[in-house]
Amino acid sequence: MTAISTKAKEMRKVERIVAPPAAHWVGDGFHVHGFFPNGPLSAKRMSPFFLLDYNAKTEFPPREEPFGVGPHPHRGFETVTIAYKGKVEHHDSHGGGGVIEEGDVQWMTAGSGLLHKEFHESEYNRKGGVFHMVQLWVNLPAKDKMTAPKYQALANGAMGRVALPTGGEVEIIAGEFEGVKGPATTFTPVNMFNVRPSKGTSVELEFPSNYTTLVLAIEGSGRINGVDELKHDHLALLDKGGERFTLEATDDNATFLVLSGEPIDEPIAAYGPFLMNTQAELAQAIEDFNSGKFGYLD
Ligand code: MN
Repeated sequence: MTAISTKAKEMRKVERIVAPPAAHWVGDGFHVHGFFPNGPLSAKRMSPFFLLDYNAKTEFPPREEPFGVGPHPHRGFETVTIAYKGKVEHHDSHGGGGVIEEGDVQWMTAGSGLLHKEFHESEYNRKGGVFHMVQLWVNLPAKDKMTAPKYQALANGAMGRVALPTGGEVEIIAGEFEGVKGPATTFTPVNMFNVRPSKGTSVELEFPSNYTTLVLAIEGSGRINGVDELKHDHLALLDKGGERFTLEATDDNATFLVLSGEPIDEPIAAYGPFLMNTQAELAQAIEDFNSGKFGYLD
């Protein structure tokens, strides 16, 4: 017999609201607010997430030469690129490539390592336009850091979707909401949703209390637990004092990126595009990169 728990789920509170840090350029194609690892949003606190670069809406002029970032390596983690506006074209040293269209998500497992380049898609680049993007780095547990590289090209039509009774929807990229699963497979438990409540309505979200949980206001503004204002382009980090919280849209057409993942309780050794557990593994990554073990890419 299964015991029925009568213990009420506790509310989790907002631990801090973070304004977008000063933006910097990645190559000439990504003008990003690096929310973490940064200050109180340390790599340890944010685990399993390691880095969040947020390209708030930026108007790019028409240009023939593609905006973007040239060949660079990654090892030991996953990069997740969410295209809200604009399109990204990528190519890698294993012959892979593709276009991340508006509304799509690319979940790339760098694993043992590859080289890739990321540019604005050529037709979009020639026309110019608004670019609005998130790139998140999700750490891999030690046992999976050297897994073979792979991509999950998650088209918008493949996302899980739950219509909210008060209007709006939850789009599920990874994890599960009200029994509906997202298409992404993950190495450790990760929930990734685009939450779009109708203006003036809220949705209750619930994750295990130990999960690192944050909300980024992509479009419009909102309110958490009825009390904490979350302005457009700001990030809210929730505490670990409970499981559930409410997220209200205070604008029309609001979109909130909600991330919640189980922390990976392992040492972190990071250097540039390499994310390992020890300094020796970092040194090996640099040696492998220098000796061409990540392949070649023009
Ligand atoms: Mn990259």
